Amino acid sequence: QAKEFGRNSVQLYDTVFNERSMERLNLENDMRNALEKGEYQLYYQPQISIHTGRIVGAEALIRWNHPVRGMVPPDEFIPLAEDTGFIVEIGEWVLREACTQNKKWQDMGYPPFPVSVNLSVRQFLQQKLKEKVQGILEETGLDARYLVLEITESMTSDVDYATNCLLELKSLGLQISIDDFGKGYSSLSYLKKFPISTLKIDQSFVRDLMEDPNDAAIVSTIIAMAHHLKLKVIAEGVETEEQLKYLTQNKCNEVQGYLFSPPLPDHQFEQKLQEMIS
Ligand code: C2E
Ligand code: MG
Ligand code: MG
Ligand code: MG
Repeated sequence: QAKEFGRNSVQLYDTVFNERSMERLNLENDMRNALEKGEYQLYYQPQISIHTGRIVGAEALIRWNHPVRGMVPPDEFIPLAEDTGFIVEIGEWVLREACTQNKKWQDMGYPPFPVSVNLSVRQFLQQKLKEKVQGILEETGLDARYLVLEITESMTSDVDYATNCLLELKSLGLQISIDDFGKGYSSLSYLKKFPISTLKIDQSFVRDLMEDPNDAAIVSTIIAMAHHLKLKVIAEGVETEEQLKYLTQNKCNEVQGYLFSPPLPDHQFEQKLQEMIS
């Protein structure tokens, strides 16, 4: 009986496995076609200066408008794109799109601000990343100082490689920030080597800030450390006035979160910019 049970569970496993791999394969195919079919779209989330209450930046976040599945959030396809290597193509599209849009806003007369773009691990390890970025800046006409590349701590494991790569990128005149800071398990030694300008506190610390004294301690410590290192700090995932108050008291520079705005399609982001000017 046990043997039979065993056989059945192998069969069940096979079926489940096959369904999973079919699903993956479908998604993978769709993902490639989506680029040609123009199904990807960038949303922009305002970054607000705590000091002035104004929009001082935007983070570009990819959305996939799938004809059948609807809006697919990045967490559901970026990891797969990362596995298959297709992220490099998507990433290039994102970079070009974000630069084009930011240049457009500047040409429309809005006060210029930097746009932040998330880099994936594969993109970061790609040969000639600097040349790619440089090409896109030239092609779109965006001044490099209005571009921020967000990297994560997971890209810092080879400190020498990363330092060289970042110095090359930095030489173009753009800015580098560390996304999801505190979430990785990496050593802090890269902080003194990398040419970075900003730390973004991971939203997991901000979420329970008011309930968990440990999170509150971590957040205030990250902010203090960032200032000692002469880095700017942005808190991600700010949803409540209480969180904002705590961040203000602890001299955080900028905030990003639903309290101010979710990520928005470009024309809705423009409305936010207009509200700010008028
Ligand atoms: P991330 O770069 O850390 O982006 C912040 C995420 O937090 C976004 O999720 C944003 O919508 C969400 N968020 C913003 N404010 C709040 C808030 O107040 N509360 C909560 N609960 N969430 C908030 P999203 O857009 O789903 O993106 C998830 C992740 O996918 C990003 O995390 C980033 O790692 C990745 N991603 C997004 N777009 C791209 C892209 O173009 N390229 C690459 N390589 N990765 C991307
Ligand atoms: Mg980010
Ligand atoms: Mg983040
Ligand atoms: Mg991230």
